[in-house]
Amino acid sequence: MTKGHHLEFDTAVDAVALGGSAAAHDLLLRWYPEELHFSENSTESTDPPAPPPGRGVGCFFSGGVDSFYTALKHIDEITHLIIIHGLDVSLSNGSMWDELVDRARTAAELLGKDLIEVRSNVRYLHAKHGPHWQRQAHGAFLAHVALLLSPHLRRVYVPASDDDAHVIEPLGTHPDLDPLWSSRDLEIVHDGVDADRVTKLAYIQHSAVAMAHLRVCWSNLAGMYNCGTCEKCLRTMIGLHLVGATNRCTTLPKTISIDAVRWIYLDAAGDEGGLAAYIDFLGQVITLEGPRTDLAVALQDVVSRSRSRQLGVTMRFYVVDVGLQLVRYRLRQALRHRTPQVHEERAVTEQAA
Ligand SMILES: [Zn+2]
Repeated sequence: MTKGHHLEFDTAVDAVALGGSAAAHDLLLRWYPEELHFSENSTESTDPPAPPPGRGVGCFFSGGVDSFYTALKHIDEITHLIIIHGLDVSLSNGSMWDELVDRARTAAELLGKDLIEVRSNVRYLHAKHGPHWQRQAHGAFLAHVALLLSPHLRRVYVPASDDDAHVIEPLGTHPDLDPLWSSRDLEIVHDGVDADRVTKLAYIQHSAVAMAHLRVCWSNLAGMYNCGTCEKCLRTMIGLHLVGATNRCTTLPKTISIDAVRWIYLDAAGDEGGLAAYIDFLGQVITLEGPRTDLAVALQDVVSRSRSRQLGVTMRFYVVDVGLQLVRYRLRQALRHRTPQVHEERAVTEQAA
């Protein structure tokens, strides 16, 4: 659809998948009439042989708030958690991945679930050739992984980033779009729009596994499980504070850095978070503690920044949070003498373990 090419398959395609992809095509075309183009699909539909019996139910699992919420909410039904190397953590960031997957293995074991580990170079290909990842492609890629696992799974949950009141349209993973990538053998379910981030934290705080392994950080270059100062870490720490669970979570600092809150770069999380989330936070903090606490005053600063102040915050983000961390990351990589990754000019997604 980016190139406006037509697709031809020389084999027949599952009728449910074909119908869903046509509906997804129409939805994406409606969402992005300027960026995407009509793409004709010439293929026959078919009813594939029945899938093997006894397949399980999967849930994409990054270790974050949305993942834990969906995994815990459907704990009795879910049999497998699915973690993907090459999405949030790049394939070249082996040290971060080692810790992340180690924690995910522990969390899965404690929850009594099997962990499926997947590795993919899709982000590299997308950076060079693909449509916008977050706005157009993210959900389609998750569906690609889910369909890859259909011999083992009959349903896969995609944890939602946004609740009903804040759902952003259009977005690459979306309650209207994700289910359309289902096939006859595999149902894809976009789950979790029933709860906002604070409500999800209130729910998962009762899980000792979630509180011991929660991982939300965007700042993968810092080499820390959660840095405690990036926008996503701070957003989660403020949420934990609001639900009275700060002391229960052992993977984030107990104290919210007021200075870091004042310097929050709201656009760091792309379409997530943003000004609306912090206006919500400010209202809840004022209701809980009044308008004069350090946190309330810092949040007031965040939501009422002048244009020049916003420019300063943006520059600080790119110079300090991205620039300096990238230099430190490259130095750490060089000192480790890791074997450089080779990224092929074709999509390689495989079940790693
Ligand atoms: Zn962080």
